[in-house]
Amino acid sequence: MDVDLSEKTALVTGGTRGIGRAIVRALADAGARVAFTYRSSTEAAEALVDELEAGDTEALSLQGDVADFDTAQAHVDTVLDRWDTLDVLVNNAGITRDGLMLRLTEEDWDDVIDTNLKGVFNYAKAAYRPMMGQRSGSIVNISSVVGTSGNAGQTNYAASKSGIVGFSKSLARELGGRNVRVNVVAPGYVQTDMTDELSDDAREGILDAVPLDRLAEPEDVAQAVLYLAAPAAAYVTGHVLHVDGGLSM
Ligand code: NDP
Repeated sequence: MDVDLSEKTALVTGGTRGIGRAIVRALADAGARVAFTYRSSTEAAEALVDELEAGDTEALSLQGDVADFDTAQAHVDTVLDRWDTLDVLVNNAGITRDGLMLRLTEEDWDDVIDTNLKGVFNYAKAAYRPMMGQRSGSIVNISSVVGTSGNAGQTNYAASKSGIVGFSKSLARELGGRNVRVNVVAPGYVQTDMTDELSDDAREGILDAVPLDRLAEPEDVAQAVLYLAAPAAAYVTGHVLHVDGGLSM
């Protein structure tokens, strides 16, 4: 896809691995300055900044927990101090703590909701004001096929991911008048550290249900995010873009 994001600034949460890393790369390849957050992979973060700078991308890594409200505000402030604008926010960071209801603990519930759902609120809350002031901005939130179809053993994760859809549609209605767009990308199963934990049987079962007959690569998701971030999607808001090989239809 031929997308020009030069002179634009993007912030991606959870950019060190998997889907987030592919999103960072795609935004950089389109010419954007890119800041990304991570929780603990400092070496991976430093290596990614080096890689981006070697390709002439202005890059910034920011450590912290997305579940922490003040951290999100500090990260957005740092981006604005450095580059003055924030044009694209991608809320990607997410975790799983799977378990059937019988075994799911309160901590499993709180960890997933705080990271996956409150994390999205935290960064959107910090970013919406500068975007409204600019009269432009694109927020892309990463949900999951599990948010619409549900999955045994993932009540906490499914709740967080469907919560993202309701949150995003509501915020899209609030911010549309200021030309700030809010959309969702809902991936199916993607080849990352998160899905490396799947058993062979589970993987076979998923492939049987995916019309395109393969797991997604992180780049498949990154291209969908890039589209929603770009001027080509100027009239798209409140949308859920399924990138799941047909799994959810
Ligand atoms: P990974 O586990 O591969 O990477 C997660 C990234 O998020 C890492 O950069 C990690 O940082 C960061 N992160 C995790 N928790 C926090 C936190 N509390 N604060 C800050 N950063 C954090 O995940 P994926 O690439 O697989 O998934 C990315 C997103 O896509 C998630 O929201 C996930 O739910 C969603 N998704 C994934 C699918 C899949 O099949 N993989 C399918 C559908 C949706 P660090 O490296 O420091 O730990």
